[in-house]
Amino acid sequence: MVVGDISTGTDVLVIGAGPAGYVAAIRAGQLDLDVTLVEKEAYGGTCLNHGCIPSKALITATNVAHEAGHAEEMGIHADPAVDMAGMVGWKDDVVTQLTSGVEKLCKANGVNLLEGTAHFADEHTVRVSHGGEGQGSESIEFEHAIVATGSRPIEIPNFSYEDDPVLSSREALALESIPESLVVVGAGYIGMELAGVFAKLGTEVTVIEMLEDILPGYEADLKRPVKKRAKELGVDFHFGQTASEWHEHGDGIRVVTEPAEAEAEAEADGGGLELDAEKVLVAVGRAPVSDTLDLEAAGVETDDRGFLETDDRGRTNVEHIFAVGDVAGEPMLAHAGSYEGQVAAEVIAGEPSAIDYQAMPAAVFTEPEIGTVGLTEAEAEEQGFEPVVGKFPFMASGRALTTGHADGFVKIVAEEEAGFVLGAQIVGPEASELIAELGLAIELGATLEDVAATVHAHPTLAESVMEAAENALGHAIHTLNR
Ligand SMILES: Cc1cc2nc3c(=O)[nH]c(=O)nc-3n(C[C@H](O)[C@H](O)[C@H](O)COP(=O)(O)OP(=O)(O)OC[C@H]3O[C@@H](n4cnc5c(N)ncnc54)[C@H](O)[C@@H]3O)c2cc1C
Repeated sequence: MVVGDISTGTDVLVIGAGPAGYVAAIRAGQLDLDVTLVEKEAYGGTCLNHGCIPSKALITATNVAHEAGHAEEMGIHADPAVDMAGMVGWKDDVVTQLTSGVEKLCKANGVNLLEGTAHFADEHTVRVSHGGEGQGSESIEFEHAIVATGSRPIEIPNFSYEDDPVLSSREALALESIPESLVVVGAGYIGMELAGVFAKLGTEVTVIEMLEDILPGYEADLKRPVKKRAKELGVDFHFGQTASEWHEHGDGIRVVTEPAEAEAEAEADGGGLELDAEKVLVAVGRAPVSDTLDLEAAGVETDDRGFLETDDRGRTNVEHIFAVGDVAGEPMLAHAGSYEGQVAAEVIAGEPSAIDYQAMPAAVFTEPEIGTVGLTEAEAEEQGFEPVVGKFPFMASGRALTTGHADGFVKIVAEEEAGFVLGAQIVGPEASELIAELGLAIELGATLEDVAATVHAHPTLAESVMEAAENALGHAIHTLNR
């Protein structure tokens, strides 16, 4: 049956139900706006279905198995067997619980949910096609629109995700059996997190990266323990190489690489590599999903990479059309998208909200974890501060030693005069959780004295935050002061 052309109107039309879009829709609903949320695939977007949540579920599950099997030092002797289908099934249950929660929360906040693919017809209309033959389409007129269509994995030449041995993170998180060997192309956070998962599952993992180190954008001292641990887990690294092609070889495939820099090729041992594996995972970054929206029909412009440029209210070049989340560019993180979504909804409702990234955290779930917020020491200097830095090694933390994970440190960066906390970088156990305290410190305008004078429970990892602040002030108790 052809449904035909129904035309409806809404105050706010949100396109995409990932963490940016569904949060924007819920906030708009809370603010009594009439809001319609269009989603073409699954509530929760990349984050809940193919990104943050499935990857963290598998990281946790593989850590349970790996730790149990490597705890002789603690007097534990076990040889856990991993049933990959069972592990993936558990991960899928977690995802289903969360995605159905999103749907319920949207409905409870008065959000009209619409399944289908949206594209702009003009600057106040989208058409939503419901997919499949005879499913029809409808037009929605809107006062305001929020584009939250997210991102997709970048494909590199000669590595099509259509081909079975070539995986994007999405397929890698859905594998039902453990590959014997895996080449990971790209040592960014997605590549490094998944390299850790498969190395712990017993896969022979080789990482190739065109740059000279892992995790671009992070400081060298944060990366060091992560690279060291990955090597201990058996991950083999090749830097300064790009993947150029792959072909069938024996029972598996052969991935061919080339030196990333022309000069390297000239060096005696600077040639390309041939790496044999069962699968290849390409994790070289993500591109915005903006090319399928007919943005021109609404007059919305993108930059040359396809990202929608926005101001500090989330507005695009078209006053009443906003963009939030990955499609609006860096920081391409779920919590950044949710935050931008909330601000956009509040601006539409007439509230004086604005986006401020000063205390935006980032977490990398490698072993050990990395958590960062605010400025690094170098960034603080660049911005004209005279930074003072305090550091505390987890090796000196009683709690870290009792967890069996004492690699890494907490580093606090503050401005010297009044001691305001400007940033923090943590590498070590639970860094993803610990960093929240320092985000709050920055948001509240707390000083080193404030953090140091806050009594932290003993024995906790969080005491390391207090000790790092004390170290910056020159009176840490459990580490030598500068
Ligand atoms: C493996 C992996 C691990 C990650 N881990 C983390 C992490 O630990 N922490 C973190 O902060 N971030 C993580 N991320 C990044 C995070 O997933 C993204 O930053 C986040 O999902 C972006 O949210 P979004 O709402 O902008 O877009 P998305 O989550 O991509 O959602 C966009 C939605 O829009 C829909 N859509 C697209 N076009 C249309 C259309 N025309 N009509 C209707 N619907 C449409 C899509 O189907 C999708 O559901 C990870 C990503 C990956 C791939």
